[in-house]
Amino acid sequence: MSKTHLGHTARKRFGQNFLHDDYVIEQIVNAINPQNGENLLEIGPGLGALTDPVCERVNALTVVELDRDLAKRLNEHPFHGDKLNIIEQDALTLDFATVKDNLPNPDKPLRVFGNLPYNISTPLMFHLFDYASSISDMHFMLQKEVVNRLAAGPGSKSYGRLSVMAQYYCAVMPVLTVPPGAFKPAPKVDSAVVRLIPHATPPVDVESVCTLERVCAQAFNQRRKTIRNSLKDCIEEQALADLGLNPGARAETLSLQDFATIANYVSQQQEAISL
Ligand code: SAM
Repeated sequence: MSKTHLGHTARKRFGQNFLHDDYVIEQIVNAINPQNGENLLEIGPGLGALTDPVCERVNALTVVELDRDLAKRLNEHPFHGDKLNIIEQDALTLDFATVKDNLPNPDKPLRVFGNLPYNISTPLMFHLFDYASSISDMHFMLQKEVVNRLAAGPGSKSYGRLSVMAQYYCAVMPVLTVPPGAFKPAPKVDSAVVRLIPHATPPVDVESVCTLERVCAQAFNQRRKTIRNSLKDCIEEQALADLGLNPGARAETLSLQDFATIANYVSQQQEAISL
């Protein structure tokens, strides 16, 4: 299949798969439901598949694009004019809170969306979670497998570190599945759109989010092992039992609350040592 779409040759290193299916595009824009006065921010506008219809509905949109040629193209767009605020930068290093503070309505949270470059989607999710308090919702096109991981619960094969951390920060709602043919060039995998709504208050109490992340990473790094073994560096078997957890269980069976319980125990131990 041709890698050229609308006169631009897709760059693999930037994860460029351009949407061209009008029906899918309309469904995504309807799911976002952009309104005037909102702080809308698109990651990776590319050739404008989502940018153009969103700009038709609202007066202002901020976009973040890493590809200099595509940013230039958007800058020279014949219709968007002043509506578009183009940030030519790597979204992975963008300070989303500062972007919000510099928008005309800094008191309003960001509404972030995008057909994300799949090669950086997981680190980008974790980067965005750091700004969850500045964001009211996110709509992302991702590999379907990643959406499954975001939404998975304990006991599912897709359940892992990304599920636990995403659900700590956000309510996760899969919106629609998108076949490879909706993109040019077509990716090898199915895609899906997900809606993420940051929680006003986290669903579980966690003393240190860093510790929660570390415990999850350690437990799922060796997901076939029992937590007695995978977590032995940070918590003893007896302590797991005292917390009401089965040391013979595997990470994939633990709930977000279970991970929070372990993380809080680990935080308290560390505090006790440092006293
Ligand atoms: N939104 C367009 C569409 O739906 O057709 C393009 C989507 S394409 C999958 C991903 C877009 O993200 C490309 O425009 C690519 O250049 C841009 N991109 C890739 N890495 C990026 C990064 N680190 N920061 C910002 N944009 C990036």
